[in-house]
Amino acid sequence: MSRLVRMILTLGLLGWLAGSCLAQTSKGTAASPPTLLKPARVFDGVNPEPHAGWVVLVSANKIVEFGPANSVKIPDGSRTIELPGTTLLPGLIDSHSHLLLHSYEETSWEDQVLIEPLALRVCRATNHLKLDLMAGFTTLRDLGTEGAGQADVGLKLAVEQGIVPGPRVLAATRAIVATKTYAPAGFAPELDIPQGAEEADGEALRKVVRDQIGRGADLIKVYADNARGATFSVEELKLIVETANSANRPVAAHATTKEGMTRAATAGVSTIEHGEGGDLEVFRLMAEKKVAFCPTLTVFEALARFKGYRPGIDPEPARLVQARAAFKAALESGVTIINGSDVGAFAHGEQGRELELMVDFGMKAAEALKAATSIAAKTIGLGDQVGMIKPGMKADLIALEGDPTADIKAVRKVKFVMKDGVVYLGP
Ligand SMILES: [Zn+2]
Repeated sequence: MSRLVRMILTLGLLGWLAGSCLAQTSKGTAASPPTLLKPARVFDGVNPEPHAGWVVLVSANKIVEFGPANSVKIPDGSRTIELPGTTLLPGLIDSHSHLLLHSYEETSWEDQVLIEPLALRVCRATNHLKLDLMAGFTTLRDLGTEGAGQADVGLKLAVEQGIVPGPRVLAATRAIVATKTYAPAGFAPELDIPQGAEEADGEALRKVVRDQIGRGADLIKVYADNARGATFSVEELKLIVETANSANRPVAAHATTKEGMTRAATAGVSTIEHGEGGDLEVFRLMAEKKVAFCPTLTVFEALARFKGYRPGIDPEPARLVQARAAFKAALESGVTIINGSDVGAFAHGEQGRELELMVDFGMKAAEALKAATSIAAKTIGLGDQVGMIKPGMKADLIALEGDPTADIKAVRKVKFVMKDGVVYLGP
């Protein structure tokens, strides 16, 4: 063999090795041939009782069969993945995340928005995608890039094209805020400081919503209030909802005050985020208007932790006491509750904490799991694709050590992650 031929062959082998490494890290390991998943039990996303001894058969990117081990017909040439001691369930959904933010404990929100270059923020965000996926979250709603333009649309494409591993992403691009109601704020009045969201008012909102959709927004995020109270009028919020809905896009509204929540619910948004100022009356209004509640309890705890609060040791800070009371009222009202953490304000990959807090605040563990699977999927418009284990659904599946319906802490013990039929973490 000539030296040249040997060199070409060696380079070819190196290229193939590099390619297969890439396939492992950015695209996972393809799940063909058909794959039989054998956990100790299966939580299907709907039934509160796990099915002991059941198995799930996956072919390409879909779930094809699901049932007791002896009833599922296994095609010739299938491979089996043994997941002893685990519970298999649909991949988790975080309905409130910020891929372009990292923990405020590391860098303040203002410095991230005003000082960090866009490329730095995007590089970090590719790590966030991976951390969230490995924590069992196979779908995220990104609720605003906070000064990073439409970068969430690019991140979504990078995942879809297999360039980086990550959850499926629904992108809101820039949040919409009323003029001079957002941040960074507090500068000399003659200065125009770049904002972490897009300002618009009145009739101009119609154009802004259409412009965002044209630039790739899967949904619209609006701030219905700020720390000083409600911002947009009901008419303005209605205009946003009407324009978004006519293009088949839902609206998620940030609202922490009763007035902001009432206006957003009256205008017909799809979800209300945070809602710690909510009471029984406003949650009943939301239930009646079919507006879901996304409580983001983890961010309240995290912001307190950054100021020295030690959960389980110190008395609960006022905002958490308020959020606990609101959550109790929400449970009583019958409003739909979906899992959403506001991850980004705190470290990516840590958002399993939201399920623990929902349980601590009075929700049954199986209900918290449903809020992070079937109920979230339906609420964010993906109910026919993910959030449930049944034939025909996308193979977004995770395995947790133990039984999360008995002890929700199992949500932090992720042993297996499959998204769209591709294994990213496994035995
Ligand atoms: Zn947020």
